[in-house]
Amino acid sequence: MDLLPALSALFGYTAFRPYQQEIITSLCRGQDVFAVMPTGGGKSLCYQLPAHVLHGVCVVISPLISLMKDQVENARANGLSAAYFNSTSTQAERRQLHHDLQDNTLDLLYISPERLGSAAFVNYMKQVNIAFFAIDEAHCISQWGHDFRPDYLALSLLAEEFPQCPVAAFTATATQQVTSDIIDQLHLRSPLEVRASFNRPNLYYQIMPKRDVKKQVLYVLRQYADESGIIYCSTRKKVDEYAAWLAEQGIKVRAYHAGLSEEERSLAQEDFRHDVCQVIVATVAFGMGIDKPNVRYVLHADMPRSMEAYYQETGRAGRDGSPARCVLFFDAQDIAQLLRFAAAEEDETRRDAAKAQIYAMLDFVQTDCCRRKSLLAYFGEDYAEHNCGACDVCTGEVARDDATQSAHLALQLIQASGCRFGKMYIVDLLMGVSSDRIVENGHTELAGFGAGKHATRKFWLFLLSALLTQGMTAIHDPEYPTLSITAKGKLFMRSDDHFFILQAAEKQLQRKQITKKLENEVSSYNAELFEALRSRRHELALAEHVPAYMIASDAVLRAMAALLPRNRRQMLEINGMGEKKWEKYGEIFLGVIDKHCRALPERRGTQA
Ligand code: ADP
Ligand code: ZN
Repeated sequence: MDLLPALSALFGYTAFRPYQQEIITSLCRGQDVFAVMPTGGGKSLCYQLPAHVLHGVCVVISPLISLMKDQVENARANGLSAAYFNSTSTQAERRQLHHDLQDNTLDLLYISPERLGSAAFVNYMKQVNIAFFAIDEAHCISQWGHDFRPDYLALSLLAEEFPQCPVAAFTATATQQVTSDIIDQLHLRSPLEVRASFNRPNLYYQIMPKRDVKKQVLYVLRQYADESGIIYCSTRKKVDEYAAWLAEQGIKVRAYHAGLSEEERSLAQEDFRHDVCQVIVATVAFGMGIDKPNVRYVLHADMPRSMEAYYQETGRAGRDGSPARCVLFFDAQDIAQLLRFAAAEEDETRRDAAKAQIYAMLDFVQTDCCRRKSLLAYFGEDYAEHNCGACDVCTGEVARDDATQSAHLALQLIQASGCRFGKMYIVDLLMGVSSDRIVENGHTELAGFGAGKHATRKFWLFLLSALLTQGMTAIHDPEYPTLSITAKGKLFMRSDDHFFILQAAEKQLQRKQITKKLENEVSSYNAELFEALRSRRHELALAEHVPAYMIASDAVLRAMAALLPRNRRQMLEINGMGEKKWEKYGEIFLGVIDKHCRALPERRGTQA
């Protein structure tokens, strides 16, 4: 079956993303599918397109009721016929749905997993002409995963109750263990298994030690004046504090955490989607189902608790494929706090798992190779390039210093003083400060006392924190944060190994430079026209109460501002401009382009 005409008519795209075509072909042939694809990889198209092409309805199982309305709206905007059925459906909606199912006019039906727990519903669905089932966020069925939902267990009956219907399971996170668990639980029958690359080439990764985090955050924000971004903090208190502070700086910001009411949270999310606010400051509670494609940056004001969390959270940037930036700020205190949280976990296995995740995160922030390479390595993927060109290590934003001698000196002093003191005391020893306490302890006599005078206190504090984060030292009791030396540290003291510290270079790259590194072809487009199109889109979005990106993405508008289409055919050649969008908005945008070209006849053509 030639799928390209449908791809272009419905979605306006000219080519499939990796694996989309294989998945769709399998579904059309009646084969089950299991697909792990990163956020933004284009999972929804994998079931939406066959839903339209095949007879019968595609039943999509989706975990969040709050999202279903959006998903339906989004599908309808592309010209698919879609509906949802959940506890919020009204009588009238249910009646309409019944008719549509009887008439076989629906492409997509979104339901929540608990529907399948009802025998009456299952029996009803047996009368319906179902093309296939699509399961979103399929990892929720696995107890090994991190988002287990008991509701999802009901899905294991699909294969038995609807033996003639193929099942397609999609997720963005699944280790090998979770993968085989999902396949077992769902009883998938020799499915097509797909594991797409987790590399997100349009994301720029940056990791920096905290200095003055608020200022560091603001510095990034200022480069993205009226664009969307997310700031993650570790606690509710911090979220409120940061949100208040940013508001004082004149930034349109909303807070989001589990301490707010359901209503406040959905309001914040709506404001974000509709570009009423520019920034969301949030805890990890802000997560699943943020499908806003034009998030230009994700900042971590604190260290995330695991690599999975980091990957997922940064993954919310740049779903539209345009350049986006991810910056993580961390310090030794973050690590101590995370370890404290982990230590409070009562179940031993889970406590160990949580600790292991924190250490993996630590390795990641301290490792001295390409961020992309080490991130992908964590997910079992080998990134072959030497220089990714889009992380702070590869672009030289980070300076890598050999601090082997200093590390030895500090460790010797920690050991000589009996591993009983905190970092301030050790810095005093290094700097040769004869404080009362040091004199009392007789530590002015230690070999190495005052041997660090050539450097600043700030340097030694940084070095001690690097020793801690690289696992050479440890703090066992956060109440009395005394530094002790780990087995790894002892091994290092006896070896010829080098110890490196990564330091943020004085000068950071500016947004423009980063964008340039991420964009393969430097696209030149008419900036004035782009702004005119954007403001027209904004008016349309307000009038229709839909998010601007649902009308057209920035990339689509930029393409218009570069190619200056003058008629339907040229308009449809733009990637992302489908039939339905043309019908609704084509003439309107043509009008803007026409007006622009007539006003400036001498400026025709493109300019950056
Ligand atoms: P996921 O659900 O995997 O996170 P989405 O289905 O939301 O990803 O898709 C992410 C973005 O990529 C959407 O804006 C979608 O329209 C776009 N997209 C999907 N498939 C293609 C394609 N073949 N060509 C261009 N853009 C695509
Ligand atoms: Zn790199």
